[in-house]
Amino acid sequence: MTATKSTLTTPLFTTTDAAELYQVPNWSGGWFRVSDKGEMEVTPAPGLHAPLRAIVDEIVERGESLPVILRFPQVITGRVKHLNESFQNAITEYGYGNHYQGVFPIKVNQRRVVVESVAAAGYDYAHGLEAGSKAELALCLAQRMHPDALLCCNGFKDDGFIKLALWGRTLGKNVVITIEKFSELDRILKQARALGVKPAIGVRFKLHARGSGQWEESGGDQAKFGLNAYELLRVVERLKEEDMLDSLVMLHTHIGSQITDIRRVKVAVREATQTYAGMIAAGAKLKYLNVGGGLGVDYDGSKTTFYASMNYTVREYAADIVYTIQEVCKAREVPEPVIISESGRALTAHHAVLIMPVVDVTGPTRDLEDLAPASEDSHQIVKDMEEVLEKITLRNYRESYNDAVGDKQTLHNLFDLGYVTLMDRARGEALFNAILRRIAKLIQNEKYVPDELEDLQKVLADKFICNFSLFQSLPDNWAIQALFPIVPLDRLNEQPTRQATIVDITCDSDGKIDKFIDLRDVKSTLPLHEPGDRPYYLGTFLMGAYQDVLGSAHNLFGKVSEAHVTVKPGGKFHIDLFVRGQKARRMIESMGYEEPMLRDAIEDQADIAIKGGILTGEQENELLDDYGEELLGYTYLEYEEG
Ligand SMILES: *Cc1c(COP(=O)(O)O)cnc(C)c1O
Repeated sequence: MTATKSTLTTPLFTTTDAAELYQVPNWSGGWFRVSDKGEMEVTPAPGLHAPLRAIVDEIVERGESLPVILRFPQVITGRVKHLNESFQNAITEYGYGNHYQGVFPIKVNQRRVVVESVAAAGYDYAHGLEAGSKAELALCLAQRMHPDALLCCNGFKDDGFIKLALWGRTLGKNVVITIEKFSELDRILKQARALGVKPAIGVRFKLHARGSGQWEESGGDQAKFGLNAYELLRVVERLKEEDMLDSLVMLHTHIGSQITDIRRVKVAVREATQTYAGMIAAGAKLKYLNVGGGLGVDYDGSKTTFYASMNYTVREYAADIVYTIQEVCKAREVPEPVIISESGRALTAHHAVLIMPVVDVTGPTRDLEDLAPASEDSHQIVKDMEEVLEKITLRNYRESYNDAVGDKQTLHNLFDLGYVTLMDRARGEALFNAILRRIAKLIQNEKYVPDELEDLQKVLADKFICNFSLFQSLPDNWAIQALFPIVPLDRLNEQPTRQATIVDITCDSDGKIDKFIDLRDVKSTLPLHEPGDRPYYLGTFLMGAYQDVLGSAHNLFGKVSEAHVTVKPGGKFHIDLFVRGQKARRMIESMGYEEPMLRDAIEDQADIAIKGGILTGEQENELLDDYGEELLGYTYLEYEEG
């Protein structure tokens, strides 16, 4: 907030301010916006928009429980189009002599609605799929695909994996088996001979170039996957000996996910194309050059090389790849290959929003008035703190802060020794918080804030308890400090008055969010509204890549319910499908228990209780009903009010 603004008596908070505060235009990529009514809206295509709050309200009205994930297949369609058209435009602009064909690596999100949406939107572009395991391949083989679309098989492979991939070719699918380590070549040749199927083979090359950001280690000489230059040439020689060189169709590279810096992409693509040219020179007749994944998502909207951001757009990514490949091919006088990218994150991140209801707010004692002031017989330390509070000024606030910290320490020491009553401890702690709040208010517009006071906001932040599990729904926030934009679904024409951190309902103290997107670095608190009588919902955006499948069952909180929503003209929407989240029973059974065993155990104990006169027969029935109902219930908090 600017100094001039804050000196106005009642600065009007508008939806424009909200959009700026939560940086919606910066990260949304145009798929979400703040409406004039102060609501978050999904905007999957020109002219189509729907308020998220109304969708959630309809779900609640149907009697369903939250949390819920809203999925918008139209957004996936839009992303697939955007990627393909970006490459097509670059190809036309540069007069590139071949075309682009993407493949969707399904490990990013294997959900049926996601894979089917990508496949449907990608059909006309011959956009294919990528599988990294036998199970993923089995799934991909069952999909309807354009006959030219690729089905790339990456990852380490056993004979079963290879056989399945080879059978795929007989089903009319353009399956390419990528060799990740040299010994896989002989395995492929042996199985191909046994089945009498001609394989299409790719080789993954270990570039010396590396990505940037959190997955830098995926590239470079020490990478887990891929062949080195010597092995690459041996593959060519070996296939020549077998008279099967025409089976070698693809060179594959991948320098890691979420590449933040476009220069790294260019350097890697240059090296990959030089390698391609070298293999052509060695006699290979490669058709495809696969530049792998890594196309980023600008989670914090800062357009920088920060790990949660990226300093380029999809269009620039496509243009730089097309340009670089063309430049090297011209110089080396080799044919321009079909360009493949395995973009995953960039296609699916935007389509899903996790809706988290705020169920409670806790924080440093708000009101000193709640407590009686220090009385005559209060301990001296409490009286001292009261004096500190009264005397804070802009000139002495550092000293006041240090005094308060010291006094609080003393207060606790004296309490442990029995010299301070529980009542005085409560007063002292409330005074401490009041001192901090007053200092925070005094210095909010100061340019320079001493280091020791920088955490003040964090200390004073309220904890917004939200009905969700971080480990199930946003595991990357916990595991690798991934950032996701979080925005209230409505009231975006109202000034937020609280600074918040978010805690989930697991019994794990790591189950919290205290890092939020910011244009510079990260913020430790999120401005939110004081929840009123109406339920207050937060949306976590851009969570459609990797989170769904990496999520875990910590505390037996299961998969979240989800709604698949189509946006209609005129601000309307339709919930096409509602899938209830996992029931408690499923979570318990996944740990090796069986439902009848559980029910029997409860019944046996109840029978003993009846014999002991603790329980009546009628109560037993009620108890068993309630138990059964919970087994079939949602694992998250379910409040009657909604
Ligand atoms: C994970 C992975 C991808 C997907 O990467 P994104 O960054 O999500 O686009 C692509 N290719 C390979 C080989 C991968 O392992």
